[in-house]
Amino acid sequence: MHMEVVSALQKLNGVARMRDLRKFGITREIIWKEIRAHRILRLRRGWISLITVSPMEIAAVEAHGLLTCASAAGVLGFPAQGAHFHIRSRCDDVNELRTTRRKTPTKIGACVGIPEMIIDYATCQPAEWVVALADHLERTRALAGSDWAMVENSLPKKAARLISMRSRIPESVLESVVRFRLLQARIPHSMQVPIGRFRADFVISSGIVLETHGAEFHSDRADWERDRRKVAWLKSQGWEVLEISYSQVFGEWELVLSAIRATRSKQRNRQFPNFLETKRG
Ligand SMILES: [Zn+2]
Repeated sequence: MHMEVVSALQKLNGVARMRDLRKFGITREIIWKEIRAHRILRLRRGWISLITVSPMEIAAVEAHGLLTCASAAGVLGFPAQGAHFHIRSRCDDVNELRTTRRKTPTKIGACVGIPEMIIDYATCQPAEWVVALADHLERTRALAGSDWAMVENSLPKKAARLISMRSRIPESVLESVVRFRLLQARIPHSMQVPIGRFRADFVISSGIVLETHGAEFHSDRADWERDRRKVAWLKSQGWEVLEISYSQVFGEWELVLSAIRATRSKQRNRQFPNFLETKRG
């Protein structure tokens, strides 16, 4: 008894070579029956996919390549940046994708493996996005410690340093980017700091809470109300609260920075519990 072709393809992230299906007991005859019944697609000789495959994945396979960098990150659930098409090509045999220290060739559907993806990403995309992707992969525990070491060793110094900045603490891409920019601006801060029954996204030295509002977490009414209560309570306890949105971070960061700096100089002479010394930094 063999596994259903569609279930096998789902296990293989939607795109696979026909020979990858052998381990599920699926023969070429069974596969061709499914293709003729339009339950799966034949992308090119030897390659098949679910009918829900994205146009980008189809194009990568047709070009005898695999998606990598921002395109692979997008397929694997990380917010994609820009409309460019990032592909590792001329690799009819995915074994060519083996990196020096790795024994097993890696491929996820129509994408290169995660280590190869981040290596390409780190030498192509803006610094803050590199750190945000590394944070995301750390948060989702997508890579083992040895894989991270391999990634860092395969990269030029500057890119490797960005990868080494990764942290599990930011809870979203927006928080990762804000953290990176605060570090660049040399503004001391702690993240996810419990205050009363709330938790602040960022505590900036001298009594300032910085809250980030990404579209994904604040779309519903109850969340919005909860945020208002949180801000009112923090202010009642003497905190200065700055709230910033996704579009402010990406569209008017200089203004955000001036607001932080102005609030810092205003707060400098006041007395506050020093969160930076007692919480993780
Ligand atoms: Zn790229």
